[in-house]
Amino acid sequence: MEKITESMTVLEKDAAYARRAAAYAEDASVPKALRELAEDARVTVRRGGAPAKEGTCVVYWMQRAQRGRDNHALDKAVACGNALGLPVVVYFAGIKNFPHANLRHYAFLNQGLPEVEEECEERGVGFVMRRAAPGDAVPAGPGDEDHLRFFADVNAAMVIGDENPMREPERWRVRVAEELRVPFWTVDADVIVPSRLLEKAQFSAAVARPRLYRALPEFLVPYTNPKAQHVWKQPRGLRAEDVREDMTRGWTEFDRNVKPVEAWTGGHRAAVKRLHKFCDEMLAAYDKDRSRPEVDGSSKMSPYLHFGHIGPQTIALAVEAAVRRNPSLQAARDSYMNELVVWRELSVNFVRYQAEYDSPGCADNWAKETIAEHDRDEREVLYTLPQLEDAKTYDELWNAAQIQMVRYGWMHNYLRMYWAKKIVEWTPNVRIAMKVAIYLNDKYELDGRDPGGYAGIAWSMLGKFDRVWFDRPIFGKRRYMSGASTGKKFMSALYIQQANSLPE
Ligand SMILES: Cc1cc2nc3c(=O)[nH]c(=O)nc-3n(C[C@H](O)[C@H](O)[C@H](O)COP(=O)(O)OP(=O)(O)OC[C@H]3O[C@@H](n4cnc5c(N)ncnc54)[C@H](O)[C@@H]3O)c2cc1C
Repeated sequence: MEKITESMTVLEKDAAYARRAAAYAEDASVPKALRELAEDARVTVRRGGAPAKEGTCVVYWMQRAQRGRDNHALDKAVACGNALGLPVVVYFAGIKNFPHANLRHYAFLNQGLPEVEEECEERGVGFVMRRAAPGDAVPAGPGDEDHLRFFADVNAAMVIGDENPMREPERWRVRVAEELRVPFWTVDADVIVPSRLLEKAQFSAAVARPRLYRALPEFLVPYTNPKAQHVWKQPRGLRAEDVREDMTRGWTEFDRNVKPVEAWTGGHRAAVKRLHKFCDEMLAAYDKDRSRPEVDGSSKMSPYLHFGHIGPQTIALAVEAAVRRNPSLQAARDSYMNELVVWRELSVNFVRYQAEYDSPGCADNWAKETIAEHDRDEREVLYTLPQLEDAKTYDELWNAAQIQMVRYGWMHNYLRMYWAKKIVEWTPNVRIAMKVAIYLNDKYELDGRDPGGYAGIAWSMLGKFDRVWFDRPIFGKRRYMSGASTGKKFMSALYIQQANSLPE
């Protein structure tokens, strides 16, 4: 079998996986029903071959899509289990070395797990969580060394995973595929249009939009949520943790400095509740209110999407249903889908195909030129990281945005752009500016550490996916946002007051 390694580019990997898929379709040692299930644009066969003969279950190794319904990866695992006459168990590993994650993120994640367990049970599917051992030892393996042990403990016939385009999680998947001895497929469950179908890095939203929208009739369809025909029974003595307990207990080296935010509750139910409120009460004014940071006017789905507590398809289907009930929502629907489908999936495409997604190396040539010309321009004021982190700048609006992020775990989109652009003005060069922005964004935002963040920072700081503007100091030909004009576009005094009264 052709070897697929961590050092290959995504395009090389895509081509190798395509050759592997073609060979798999012809592999007579694999049951026909399984080969048919692999013929799906969402599926990547990371390790082929026939399921283990002595295997007693199909495992879905849930990482990104943390939900027990409306989940293509779980649906695929159930379909494979039913085809093979085997039960299905979902495995979730509570790892403690997820890059840049802290207590705020883990608390939100933890809140979603009991519902996953319940939703799996309703479908006849098992759910087992194992967390990293207490203490401060950080394992060197892909996230944690436990995974292969679990697959062996439950006697997996095959393993299904989900997809995550970020560097580290993708590396883990490649490595596990190398180490496993049973088939391993991954399913692209957190985008509406399977990300592979865009084939290469998209130059702009205008280029990606028609391609994505053309594919919607095929992919924006209701989920089937099939039930397992063979109910999984937990083997006696199998190590499993209680998902209702704090997953981080006993992790001595774990970063607990960023506290959970009371105002947010993680999990599928909370996501659906907010989604219905948005569709019923807020969608009509979305196009106008989404640019007003002082108003609760956007869907606030981003933390739920980040943790996979809800899938984009569920959201898009709910919005489409709202328009069917009330056709006057069509324009609002178009505006919302432009964010949820075009900008979100363009961000996934950006991280998937752009190896340097978190550094200035990902800038387009025009931006590289203008950055080279202006990166050393004199700055009126330079702030240190602690000054920025503590919202101690001269700019009240910027400070308010920073406070919203630190205390509330979510900053309004309109101010995220302004926030990032000001960091370019206040740090010595764009490389440092990006580092600072990524550090703060990933540390405090509940939706941080996400393709949307890397793309948003690249848009704001490098002009990625944006157009060329008039030349000016520091920014060169990249778009500039001034505090005076930004603050006039909405009730900024009210926003500043709201941010400052957020509980610390
Ligand atoms: C500097 C900067 C940093 C950002 N950091 C993040 C981040 O860490 N995580 C993150 O998910 N998004 C990030 N974004 C994108 C965007 O700001 C958020 O997705 C949005 O504000 C989330 O709020 P919402 O769910 O209410 O959005 P809504 O307006 O209700 O939009 C619905 C969904 O569409 C997607 N979306 C909306 N705007 C964008 C966008 N500009 N780019 C990509 N997807 C979008 C999100 O998934 C969002 O949940 C960043 C943008 C910028 C400019």
